[in-house]
Amino acid sequence: MKILSIETSCDETAVAVTEGRVVLSSVINSQTEIHKKYGGVVPEIASREHTLAIDAVTRTALKEAGLDFKDISAIAVTYGAGLLGALLVGVSYAKGLAYALNIPLYAVNHLKGHISANYIANKDLKPPFITLLASGGHTQILKVNALNDIEILGETVDDSAGEAFDKVARVLGLPYPGGPEIEKLAKFGSPDYVLPRAFKNENHLNFSFSGIKTAVINLVTKIERGGGVVNKANLASSFQSEVCEILTKNTVQGAKNSNISTVTLAGGVGANGYLRDLLSAECKKAGLTLLLPPKHLCTDNGAMIGVCAHEEIQIGAKPADLSLDANPSARV
Ligand code: AMP
Ligand code: MG
Repeated sequence: MKILSIETSCDETAVAVTEGRVVLSSVINSQTEIHKKYGGVVPEIASREHTLAIDAVTRTALKEAGLDFKDISAIAVTYGAGLLGALLVGVSYAKGLAYALNIPLYAVNHLKGHISANYIANKDLKPPFITLLASGGHTQILKVNALNDIEILGETVDDSAGEAFDKVARVLGLPYPGGPEIEKLAKFGSPDYVLPRAFKNENHLNFSFSGIKTAVINLVTKIERGGGVVNKANLASSFQSEVCEILTKNTVQGAKNSNISTVTLAGGVGANGYLRDLLSAECKKAGLTLLLPPKHLCTDNGAMIGVCAHEEIQIGAKPADLSLDANPSARV
């Protein structure tokens, strides 16, 4: 069954064709360059750009797979979480396509899509497993018993990890999106600045990243008011190592608490090399098997949505009808 999948939850218009866990084509039209000048995603602009791009991206995805609309058996689309106007473009287009082609439409949760990127990278992966989901909108440690049975073991109580990377990058004068910029700069520094850790002595797996963000802002202000110069590479390195350490510590603890030996990674922050290395080392120490999806499958893409729909169909997911609506705050 060949699935055409559509993802427009944020600033990527992404369409893929998948069959089972195999990706036949995956086309991503990123709007990063457009939003860069505003320092972040402007929702209204994102929706308009999706509208302009979606048909061409879809046709390119079909062409790259060597297929035609008539070869597609089902449509999958992200219905949430994400930006309302952006989601609506994908949902409306997907509904129109499913109706015109007279094929089923599957509504996919964006977060379950991120988790499913691991099925593309590891064709034999089966639940239960632990997923560290760290993206621009979410930071959660998940116990995946099945795609329709996910327990949240810990999550952020304020900013997501990606948001913290983006905000700290802005303070350091780096462009949007900040995560990759901090990673690049941190390579030239060492983690010499001491930054606070939230929930240090508490016995749960939740995160809080707003304190560390404020600490970075205060530190920069204090140094600059005193006539000093911030060592930006060292600050980027200190921030990155602190965030990655707490993400890693809680993930390993979550796996140990649940007696689950397979750990996976998902979401844009999962593309961070420092996090991938640290998580690999700590999982190894703890006797856990870590499966890392390639970096291009951590950030938003259509293929993860198609594969998620395929996995959900295997466990009884039913098609959506044409009343399907976008849900900006959908949970796992
Ligand atoms: P997503 O919401 O899954 O599309 O992920 C986007 C978020 O991932 C943004 O906040 C980015 O700054 C962040 N991100 C992307 N690449 C990296 C990286 N190499 N290091 C840290 N954060 C990253
Ligand atoms: Mg995402």
